Amino acid sequence: MRGNGLSCAGCAGPIIGRIVSAMGQRWHPGCFRCSTCNDLLEHVSSFDHEGKPYCHLDYHENFAPRCYHCKTAIIDERFITLDDEALGKRTYHEQHFFCAECGDPFLPPSSGSGGLTVTGDGEFDLDDDVGFTVYKGHPYCEACHVRLRMPKCKHCKKSIRDGMRAVEALGGKWCWECFVCEGCKTPFDDPSFFLRENKPFCEPCFSLILRNEV
Ligand SMILES: [Zn+2]
Ligand SMILES: [Zn+2]
Ligand SMILES: [Zn+2]
Ligand SMILES: [Zn+2]
Ligand SMILES: [Zn+2]
Ligand SMILES: [Zn+2]
Repeated sequence: MRGNGLSCAGCAGPIIGRIVSAMGQRWHPGCFRCSTCNDLLEHVSSFDHEGKPYCHLDYHENFAPRCYHCKTAIIDERFITLDDEALGKRTYHEQHFFCAECGDPFLPPSSGSGGLTVTGDGEFDLDDDVGFTVYKGHPYCEACHVRLRMPKCKHCKKSIRDGMRAVEALGGKWCWECFVCEGCKTPFDDPSFFLRENKPFCEPCFSLILRNEV
């Protein structure tokens, strides 16, 4: 500051005459310019980044979050943020946030604002019946996640979902109804079974075998 005059935040010179007040400072009308393209900002919307003025275009081009999918700036205030160890922090346009496997969009609810931030791997709900799972940083729809990641029954090869009645035995997982006694072909109500030549038997069938052997 020199004397009692106003000084321009752009050129630091004294301002005599017309003043532009912006970003909490005073500027010569000719000094309030975009730091990138040099356009005058007096009559257009300006954006402040670390004390420097930018035009709308350059501000978003340089500082707005970018969509991980399409690589363009995200100007909409609603967007999805993923943050995890595998891939770091990423942002997506809502319409560009979809299953890494099948490409189906997750279609988050359009009500509410501010977007969504998700940290780490796990299951997330966007709505009562819309959800996705982040695995190693990539989002997957429910169907793909189950297909790709869930253990498969050693007998019928179908995915075993959470909450399904399943048996863990003989080095794998089985649907409850697929893990049956080798003799009578019924599932085991009691989790204990007898093994013979790596095949499971219920108690009555097993004692029958033993008796026949004697
Ligand atoms: Zn100036
Ligand atoms: Zn500019
Ligand atoms: Zn995008
Ligand atoms: Zn999918
Ligand atoms: Zn099965
Ligand atoms: Zn049996």
